[in-house]
Amino acid sequence: MTNYIGRFAPSPTGPLHFGSLVAAVASYLDAKAHQGTWLLRMEDLDPPREQAGAADRILQSLEAHGLHWDQQLVYQSHRLEAYQQAMATLKYAIYPCNCIRQRIIGMQGRYDGHCRRHSPSASEAVAIRVMTDTLSKPQQHQSEHFDDIFLGPQYSPLDHNGDFIIKRKDGLFAYQLAVCVDDAYQGVTHVIRGHDLLDSTSRQRYLLSLFKAKLPEYGHTPLALGKDGSKLSKQAKARPLEDTQAASNIMAALHFLGCPSLPVDINSTSCEELLSWGVQVWSRQSVPTVASIAPYLRDK
Ligand code: GLU
Ligand code: ZN
Repeated sequence: MTNYIGRFAPSPTGPLHFGSLVAAVASYLDAKAHQGTWLLRMEDLDPPREQAGAADRILQSLEAHGLHWDQQLVYQSHRLEAYQQAMATLKYAIYPCNCIRQRIIGMQGRYDGHCRRHSPSASEAVAIRVMTDTLSKPQQHQSEHFDDIFLGPQYSPLDHNGDFIIKRKDGLFAYQLAVCVDDAYQGVTHVIRGHDLLDSTSRQRYLLSLFKAKLPEYGHTPLALGKDGSKLSKQAKARPLEDTQAASNIMAALHFLGCPSLPVDINSTSCEELLSWGVQVWSRQSVPTVASIAPYLRDK
């Protein structure tokens, strides 16, 4: 074992689809190719968006695909106290905000810091935002600039979103806060995930710095698209993975991630065998940097 700790962190908003499998397989292969640990975290933090039974179905699906995680699974719904405590440590960098969504949409999604200057009254429902300009210059720079494992140098200015929400008006902790508290708590050294989260990375590096946590390395894998070119997503009801086709799903994910084709009979090879081949041939340089259509959706 090295000190590499990776993770896969699905949200139970629906069953896994091919795009989620790609992120799971990439984080698994990169961890195992570095003799690392691969953790699983269920990001069940947003009940209104969750689907009954989805968390268990995701676990079954991962098992069926030979993606066996190390150590105990962490459920974010059991970690609320930790999020509350973490938020308390940010006390000088946070403030309540009662702005309505429409106003912020009107600003192209970039929050203008309005409630820094106009405190909402105590009786109102408020979200909690974190100020995004409280670090030293070098740390600010380090939040916004990073070298993506697959994509190379990235610059993503915090100013693009402005001060962001860490606790929502409905009282739920925001993804950005929970993901950082837990990546730090679990000692995650490498975050390998889908390209759709690239844009969140500078916010997360910023928060981790506020928590004085060590910054992990980040790698964002290419998105799998539907036939119409849109991102496969649980919300858009992407076709769920068929657990009975697990070996061919894994084969397709390996191929999608740039692994060379395996000279085996897919019908007599287990997912575990396919994955261990994947670990042997894994090459970060071979992972495509652009999105493409999910293989089984392509016209034959
Ligand atoms: N739970 C997030 C999602 O399913 C992923 C979190 C992450 O990998 O940072 O989109
Ligand atoms: Zn506001």
